[in-house]
Amino acid sequence: MALGAWIVVQARDVRAGAATRQSAASLAEALPSRLAPAPSRPTEPAAGGGAGAVSTVRGGGAPTPAVTSSHPPAPNRDLGEIRRRLLENQAGTYIGDILSERDSNIARWPDRTSSPLRVWIQSPAALPDWNPEDIAQVRDAFTTWVSAGAPVPFTFVMDSSGADVHVTWVDHFDEQISGKTMWARDDNWWIVDANIAIALHHNHGEPLDASAVRAIALHEVGHLLGLDHCADTTNIMTPRVRIRDLSPADKATMRLVYALPPGSVREAMR
Ligand SMILES: [Zn+2]
Repeated sequence: MALGAWIVVQARDVRAGAATRQSAASLAEALPSRLAPAPSRPTEPAAGGGAGAVSTVRGGGAPTPAVTSSHPPAPNRDLGEIRRRLLENQAGTYIGDILSERDSNIARWPDRTSSPLRVWIQSPAALPDWNPEDIAQVRDAFTTWVSAGAPVPFTFVMDSSGADVHVTWVDHFDEQISGKTMWARDDNWWIVDANIAIALHHNHGEPLDASAVRAIALHEVGHLLGLDHCADTTNIMTPRVRIRDLSPADKATMRLVYALPPGSVREAMR
């Protein structure tokens, strides 16, 4: 499929309360792990009518019950096993890109085989060019990652107040991006919270068609799962998305991330 323009996507990290919000895209600023100040409000433009919108991006200050009450236990970290899994499985992945951008840290959700993440997708009928089918594109993006082996099942909910993940829409971003993910991690590098915003138009105004919306969603869900950008433009996690589906390297990298405990692999690789 010919692509008229790259889809530029971005993830942004901020810190909030007990959790640390990480930027998947802005690499230099993501390191070291705790330096990003928490903004007092979401940095994404809020989509119209979004009940949940990106309001779960919390300001700094006291830890929030939503994060601390579901605090996952510290991971079991066997350095020898981490090293073995990295060496055996890194071929065909871009795990090196991710580790170099995160100061050698893995960020991921705990396995949630019995407790799906509840995803709410906004229905902003008032936004120009928003198509109800866009919701199906986003749902498909989530399920595509699960089909690829992500041990983080999702369920789609209609009530934003009870959702773990909010997907909202914006007409366009003021920056030259088409999607944005904000996620938070705890001290163990477990991801504990994430929200996605997707544009309906390129920064310069051209509408994003259904396949582009799906590709953006695939990229952003990749960030939500803990992936970062890769240099190879044949993958969905390249900063300027050119393809429309997950590549073998996207899938292999995600599987490797979820074969490792969260946190630094630096000691394991010495
Ligand atoms: Zn990105």
